[in-house]
Amino acid sequence: MKLLLKKIERPQRFKPATEDPPEPSRDLRSLWGRLETRRWIKKSLQELDFAIEELDAELGFNEHLKNCETCRMELCLSVERYMGSRGPWWINLQNGDYLPEQFLDCPKLEDYEIGYYGKDNQPGTHKFIKDRMTWATKITKKQFKAAGKLVKILENWPVTEGIPEISWVQGMIDKLAGVSIFLG
Ligand SMILES: [Zn+2]
Repeated sequence: MKLLLKKIERPQRFKPATEDPPEPSRDLRSLWGRLETRRWIKKSLQELDFAIEELDAELGFNEHLKNCETCRMELCLSVERYMGSRGPWWINLQNGDYLPEQFLDCPKLEDYEIGYYGKDNQPGTHKFIKDRMTWATKITKKQFKAAGKLVKILENWPVTEGIPEISWVQGMIDKLAGVSIFLG
């Protein structure tokens, strides 16, 4: 009894601030989820827009290359002297010729008579660039088509569905295109 009295007499204190705030209701949590999904859809569509522009520019460049001797000659020198540095991804050899390891149909560097400094702008190098470009264009076209499909998927994405893994856009383009390029 004494103890109980003591307890009652004790002055009231404020509850410590470490206590958790009240749980949000299920409806509120679900609303947050939908808003988050809407934001993700918008952001992904922007990323996708950018990716489509890049792919389109790449296809445009490949087309240009067919008719531009200057660009072809410059790419030759890039391969012969600088391991394809500053060139498009499909002739970058700075980390070795890794693309044929990933793609069986990718033309191999070793099958061409590549020129070198002092004996540059060689027909073998030109052939290598032409064959690689033809091969790469097929991949880029697939990615371009896949990116277009992805726009439709995203536009019809149910907001209640939630958000998939983070680096989604490029991964999905490659998945839909059936290619996966790990630039070495
Ligand atoms: Zn040009």
